Amino acid sequence: MRYSQMLLPTTKETPSEAEVISHQLLLRGGFIRKLTSGIYTYLPLGLAAIQKVAQIVREEMNRSGAQELLMPMVQPADLWQETGRWQKYGSELLRFTDRHERESCLGPTHEEVITDLARRELQSYRQLPKNLYQIQTKFRDEIRPRFGLMRGREFIMKDAYSFDVSDETAGESYQKMYDAYHRIFQRCGLDFRAVEADTGTIGGSFSHEFMVLAQTGEDTLVICEQCSYAANVEKAKVALEEQKEASREEVRDVVKVETPGMKKVERVAEFLQVESADLIKTMIYIADGEPVAALVRGDRDVQPVKLKNLLGATEVELGDDATVYDMTKLPVGYLGPVGLPLKTVADQEVMHMANAVCGANEKQYHLTGVQPGRDFTPTLSGDLRQITSDDSCPLCGGVLRLTEGIEVGHIFKLGTAYSTAMSATFQDSEGQEKPFVMGCYGIGVSRVVAAAIEQNHDDNGIVFPLPVSPFQVIILNLGINNEKISSAAEKLYEDLQNRGIEVLYDDRDERPGSKFKDADLIGIPYRITVGKTYEKEGKVEIRQRKGGETESVEFDFAGAMIDEKVRGELTSYVGN
Ligand code: ATP
Ligand code: MG
Repeated sequence: MRYSQMLLPTTKETPSEAEVISHQLLLRGGFIRKLTSGIYTYLPLGLAAIQKVAQIVREEMNRSGAQELLMPMVQPADLWQETGRWQKYGSELLRFTDRHERESCLGPTHEEVITDLARRELQSYRQLPKNLYQIQTKFRDEIRPRFGLMRGREFIMKDAYSFDVSDETAGESYQKMYDAYHRIFQRCGLDFRAVEADTGTIGGSFSHEFMVLAQTGEDTLVICEQCSYAANVEKAKVALEEQKEASREEVRDVVKVETPGMKKVERVAEFLQVESADLIKTMIYIADGEPVAALVRGDRDVQPVKLKNLLGATEVELGDDATVYDMTKLPVGYLGPVGLPLKTVADQEVMHMANAVCGANEKQYHLTGVQPGRDFTPTLSGDLRQITSDDSCPLCGGVLRLTEGIEVGHIFKLGTAYSTAMSATFQDSEGQEKPFVMGCYGIGVSRVVAAAIEQNHDDNGIVFPLPVSPFQVIILNLGINNEKISSAAEKLYEDLQNRGIEVLYDDRDERPGSKFKDADLIGIPYRITVGKTYEKEGKVEIRQRKGGETESVEFDFAGAMIDEKVRGELTSYVGN
């Protein structure tokens, strides 16, 4: 492709709306343009990168035995009513009514549509297993669309769905996807980890997320330094610590004490000369519109996804003081579980506390000597708190490390939840009707491009891993008005194209400085400069974007050398 003909609007200034580096560089490098909140046009360079990822995904999905199809983006409400998700999915589902008053939605995911297809088209165990996938634009009305391609409202996803006769074979289908995902992200040249994850609104019993390790990740992962344990903190099980034994302490009675102006755990602990760990922290969340009190030890934090799962709720959000007061008329800042007229969920650890301190549900007062179980009984209790690096590995007791990650893929064992709800059955080998055992498997194709940039950039711009770069090579013609230089550059451009190399040829009438800058910004892995050295010595310069290694080579060998480098590097990502 000739740069002079391409729509590739690079800019020097960092756009103020872009907080994270991938968003900044995608805008500055002319990859994307915003249409409206969370909705982008992919310009030619952006689309080329997305298609690179999509192609790797497609090849590995096909290799695993899955088949590509394409489902509609508009979905009728009645399918979603069959599974109950029309109500349950929440505000991310964009619903609308057509001219015949039929309710519909824009597909955020396709479990209902594919299960409907399966119940119509798959009748016998002989047709199973099947794994069907598509690469398609999804719409989710995200509450906080941000970070460019990382969290859009409209984005490109690969979603696959497997149908099996039994749990056992469904496990094999899941494993195939687990392996395919490893190959996909390895082939994309990314540093990633597969972690145990929460199943979210998709539901199901078991899941793994594939996380690209990068500082700007929205997810926090916990990784064991000793064993292979890795999990999203939303899911990571907290091992219950040895508690100080209540029996050794004298069990005291509840005493109400004045704590003027003390709303914060630390202030109360200091004033009463106890540890933060002796306090019960009462946090009010709004779960599907209802206030719920979550109890954790004073030095701990609530993990909202665990709370959501314990409650079986759809949406859980921390209530701000004003909302909580409006809903409950309770004295925010002095809340505690004793006599609290709300649904209460206690962390498992809280139930092992003795002589605890908590708010008295009265302004300026706290209670001491509180015994969980004696003085209050929560509606529910369980593992509710956020894991920390001070906790030990739930598998081996080893040391844990927290790190940030970007979720690029998610695989789920769905079991028969959808097939049962939608009466999607097949005849087994004994002639019995059985529900399909399902799995579903997503990859955020457009998000992968953003994640690749988050992980691979420097002060000058993007440093694309070769497999996902929109072009493999950029040729800079630094003598656009010089006959000799220009005809050599043109010849090299021809040669590389003939070799099947994806090449961008910078034939613009621009200063060398801005050509170098743009080439660095858009991150193409190999750069060939044809300039004065060619005129004088018949040599061109080959430079690698990553690491900046530069060599001067005879013009006649340049094409073959680049060919070899590109092919050699590409095979290095393939692995097994
Ligand atoms: P997240 O927790 O980031 O919202 P999710 O769990 O809702 O993701 P899935 O339903 O598993 O996501 O979707 C499959 C994949 O689609 C995700 O792993 C992610 O890579 C991608 N994805 C999900 N939401 C978005 C979005 N708003 N923008 C871009 N990619 C997305
Ligand atoms: Mg989501």
